[in-house]
Amino acid sequence: MSDNTVRIQDDLFQAVNGEWLKTAVIPDDRPTAGGFAELDQNVEKLMMADFEAFAKGEKTSDIPEMKYAIRLYQKVLDVQERNEKGIAPVLPLLEKILTLKSPADLSENAAGFLLDGIRLPLQLFVDTDMKDATRHALNVMGPDIILPDTTYYEEGNPAGGQLLEIFSGMAASALSKTPLSEQEQQAFLADTLAFDALVAKKVKSQVEWADYVAMYNPMDLEEAAAYAAPFDLKKVLSDLFGDHAPSVIIANDPKALKEMNGYFSEETFTKYLHWAYVRTLLDHTSLLSEELYAIGTTYRRALMGIPTDPTLQKRAYQTASQIYSEAVGVYYGRTYFGEEAKQDVVNLVKKVIETYKLRVSKNTFLSPATKEKAILKLSTITIKMGYPDAVHPFFSTLVFDEADSYFDLRKKLSRIRLQFELDQLTMPVDRRRWGMPGHMVNACYNPFVNDITFPAAILQKPFYSIHQSISENLGGIGAVIGHEISHAFDNNGAKFDENGNLANWWTEEDFKAFNALTKDMIDQFDGIPFHGGTVNGELVVSENIADNGGLGVTLEIMHTLPDPDFKAYFINWAKVWCLKAKDEYIQLLLASDVHSPNELRANMAPRNFDEWYEAFDVVSTDQMYIAPEKRISIW
Ligand SMILES: [Zn+2]
Repeated sequence: MSDNTVRIQDDLFQAVNGEWLKTAVIPDDRPTAGGFAELDQNVEKLMMADFEAFAKGEKTSDIPEMKYAIRLYQKVLDVQERNEKGIAPVLPLLEKILTLKSPADLSENAAGFLLDGIRLPLQLFVDTDMKDATRHALNVMGPDIILPDTTYYEEGNPAGGQLLEIFSGMAASALSKTPLSEQEQQAFLADTLAFDALVAKKVKSQVEWADYVAMYNPMDLEEAAAYAAPFDLKKVLSDLFGDHAPSVIIANDPKALKEMNGYFSEETFTKYLHWAYVRTLLDHTSLLSEELYAIGTTYRRALMGIPTDPTLQKRAYQTASQIYSEAVGVYYGRTYFGEEAKQDVVNLVKKVIETYKLRVSKNTFLSPATKEKAILKLSTITIKMGYPDAVHPFFSTLVFDEADSYFDLRKKLSRIRLQFELDQLTMPVDRRRWGMPGHMVNACYNPFVNDITFPAAILQKPFYSIHQSISENLGGIGAVIGHEISHAFDNNGAKFDENGNLANWWTEEDFKAFNALTKDMIDQFDGIPFHGGTVNGELVVSENIADNGGLGVTLEIMHTLPDPDFKAYFINWAKVWCLKAKDEYIQLLLASDVHSPNELRANMAPRNFDEWYEAFDVVSTDQMYIAPEKRISIW
């Protein structure tokens, strides 16, 4: 798997993955192939075969929630019922929107709309209170816009106009199935686009969202309600929470809230209603006939460059495994992930954490007081490995009747989930909850609870194998573990303490030094040309700090091995980022993803470390060389 025409010293990613990239074919129903995507495809194939066997009664599971997952899987496969009904099931929801005459009417109905999945001119959700990680807070933000980011609405961005054209075609097709007259359909669509453009002027961009602390703006309900008027925010919260309605909310996007009243002039309110009609319709096409399903995926597929929808069977599996995620993840983990491997990786995580502490203690830019706090934070990280011991009780509440229509049962399940999330407002934070299910090929760090999650599905080759060398495992899962731990100390994580509270545990001087390093990391990536676009250094900085920390800590471990193979380490690092992606998808990620493109992750991160230069004799005339004074090491 190597491309001999490219020297590793010039392009590690191409040298390692080039041969594969030449012939690899991206599946028609996916935006990418290789690396994570390939593992994900394999997991999907394996699990679909199991779901089929369950559905045929050839297999049974002792996980009770799996029964419902399988039943849902079968319901998706039964297209006849959905095709017979066409658009009819969603019409009552859409009609509710058109009965509204005023913002007062909207306030009267908003709580019900929220639970019904009807689009409102704001979004409400319950999450951990950033300043007190034991309890929850109610967050308020503006509506989602149609385009992937507000920057697409900026003048001179040709992608925005093209995408809106595709969106309009899709919306027009869906609207043509409604009872609206042709004239109304056109007016609804025009109003939708106009309202969305207005929203885009008020809500945050992806770069602004990448700053976690900027989301924490506690505001008295009275003040928030005054901004939202004539929309009656107090009435809505009292309908949703009764006596438990909060007196303080968190304005995630203060400008969006402060300017919300701009939606309620008579003319704009009508535009909102039409926007809500169109967007709510499109939110529901996946629960309707096959024809509407296909219409409803057009825009998303265009965004990612995906020519075709997944097969019905894949959709059935994907739907069931998303809704009953933890049950499916526990099944996957118990069936395909060995106890031996689990223990081995837990030991590796512990080793990474211990080495991280050592590195912090040797760190040259921190004072002893800050070091002590950082080490405390490392000592208290909770490790969630593979899959939970038991399925969270919430999943046993996701029940429906055999007689329910597909539309009704999906609405029932959405409502149960939403109500559960809202009910958390008065409950303590449940640290047993897992951020990702066992069958997901990914890993994460949650700064609000200071825990790391490694689903079973990522714990396989090339990331990890008991049959791979330790050097390879360190360049794969080791670096990923180090990456996730580093999120505790990236530009966002650094602002939360060991309990997950937003708190300043830094001395002023140390934080200044850290900020200077963060700035260096922004500069290292900012403006790098990639597939016709450029990297936004600020958008991707936290992930790059995490990659930097991941390599730093695992290279330190490498030095302690009796027989380290640094070549194998860097080659496997490049292998895990192997990826071929549709060009549309690359552009989408450049504009909205907090990760740098895989190719750059593979090629930029190593050059900050002396070990890279030593392993492959990289010298100043090589492409993957940077001068020692430009090399960045943060953690
Ligand atoms: Zn990350």
